[in-house]
Amino acid sequence: MKDKIHPEYHEVTVVCACGSTFKTRSTYKSDILHMEICSKCHPFFTGKQKLIDSGGRVERFNRKYAGFKKATPAAAETKA
Ligand SMILES: [Zn+2]
Repeated sequence: MKDKIHPEYHEVTVVCACGSTFKTRSTYKSDILHMEICSKCHPFFTGKQKLIDSGGRVERFNRKYAGFKKATPAAAETKA
């Protein structure tokens, strides 16, 4: 390998917002890497639905496309 052109590949401790930590190797500049979600708390792995809705985006989407649901008779009954 050439000198001084490669980032330093070293061991980092990943700290998740859920409290779990694990070690990995990375070229990340710090020794500790903070993150919001990991394989321990991600809904895909826990099987629990945890919708992160910041700023009512889901609500806005539902409002915007409420008309679409009415257009199809089958979907009309699912509307709240
Ligand atoms: Zn986590």
